[in-house]
Amino acid sequence: MRDWQRNQQDITERKLAEEQLQFQATILRYVTDIVIVTDLQGTITYWNEGASAVFGYSAEEMLGSTPARLYPGRNITQPVQDLEHLLAGFDYLGEWEGRRKDGTVVWVDIKTTILRDTEGTAIGLIGIARDITARKQLTEEVSRAKEQLEAILYNVADGIIVVDANDRPVYVNDVIARQAGFPSSTELLAALQAGVAHRQEKFTVWDEWGRPLPVSERPIAQALRGKQAKALVQYQDNATGQLYWTLTRAHPIFDAQGQVQLAVSVYTDVTEQKELEQRKDHFINMASHELKTPLTILSAHTQLLRERFAAEDGQDVVRQLCKMDDQITRLTNLVADLLDISRMQAGQIELARDAVDMDELVHEAVANLQPTTTHHLLIEGAAQPPITGDRERLGHVLIILLTNAIKYSPQADSVVVRVAYARDALTVSVQDFGIGIARSHQQRLFERFYRVLSKKDQTYPGLGIGLYIAYEIIQRHGGKMWMESVEGNGSTFFFSLPTGE
Ligand code: ADP
Repeated sequence: MRDWQRNQQDITERKLAEEQLQFQATILRYVTDIVIVTDLQGTITYWNEGASAVFGYSAEEMLGSTPARLYPGRNITQPVQDLEHLLAGFDYLGEWEGRRKDGTVVWVDIKTTILRDTEGTAIGLIGIARDITARKQLTEEVSRAKEQLEAILYNVADGIIVVDANDRPVYVNDVIARQAGFPSSTELLAALQAGVAHRQEKFTVWDEWGRPLPVSERPIAQALRGKQAKALVQYQDNATGQLYWTLTRAHPIFDAQGQVQLAVSVYTDVTEQKELEQRKDHFINMASHELKTPLTILSAHTQLLRERFAAEDGQDVVRQLCKMDDQITRLTNLVADLLDISRMQAGQIELARDAVDMDELVHEAVANLQPTTTHHLLIEGAAQPPITGDRERLGHVLIILLTNAIKYSPQADSVVVRVAYARDALTVSVQDFGIGIARSHQQRLFERFYRVLSKKDQTYPGLGIGLYIAYEIIQRHGGKMWMESVEGNGSTFFFSLPTGE
């Protein structure tokens, strides 16, 4: 009876053990991971379906063979040498390049562990691996793209700085490093990150007009606030005194939440161009001075002659002399404009602070110009309270806008000046019914020397400096200037000035 009982118990245990084995075998067969078991000599004793799916060999083909077949380029004895390590209880981990049955490359991530029997004796090795070919290719592509990008960044002539959201540099290129006096970008970056070098202390920075540019207004600081920014700035190396002009452009890079993650700043060295421009400005300045002196003398002599002939009743000569005087006045105004633009470029324009009655100024400008044209110069609206500004220069702005309106509307017979009050600002507009301006030119009209030179406009004389001067004068008064125009349908130029003071 006892024997029978023991027998029954044995049978149950064996059954349970068999079920357990069956269960494990099923799992091993169907896991997508590769499971390969070898004996201690390296002969394969188990090969699952995951291994077949990845390598393309069936279990029949591989049982009795060795893993060397899967890794032709490898010294397969290596893990055997590592056997002691494995026996000591450490797993082997590695990424191996293998070959599928069809000869294609497959990358696997392998973990090898020692396999022991119930007594704890080592009987073989169990290798579990996973196909990482796609990941490997992606990593390679990413690192290739990174190398290419680095080569591009290394070879560009522009300086590049990338800072994180806390304004800490994360990337600089060699151009910036050399400018900062470091042999390479790696060394500059290390110095910046260690706080040995400070970006802001190395250079003194001015804006385009020579005003000190606060750190918070530099393009990179604006990019950190989420805005794209561009500025022409002058740098002086505090150590060497060397001056640079750079066109600095900064862009924010946002993370998925829309927060600024990085700011990229690109510095283009425009020192040479800027110096050339300054020489040109200097030339214009000198030439204007040279022209001014003989003109003043010529004008004085004409006046004298006019007075003398008037006294002697030589009316014919007086008329001639008046015409000469008109031309001299034109030349003098032109020279004054040329002088102004070179001063404006150097930021040297001083504005008077007069109480300006805009109504009176508009009437005066119209009264001055009306005798010179057949256009009817009409005035609408009124400004009333005076504003503070430079009377002479504001008068000059009106003259520029009115002469342009007349000049560029040869077929029309009127020009309308409107003066209006709107929200703390005084707005003046000059409307003509002339040739108008194509949209593509409208953005650039206020630039120095900019002229619209289509075939049909070539007949209009001019130097392209009037609107630039007008725009600068208004800007320096804290005002705004803009225009609206449809090609062929006339233009309206506006300016507004604050009335606050
Ligand atoms: P200029 O008239 O001496 O060429 P400006 O600086 O005053 O120089 O004007 C720049 C350009 O803008 C002109 O060449 C002309 O093409 C255009 N422009 C200015 N005012 C007008 C206007 N009222 N109508 C059409 N075009 C204009």
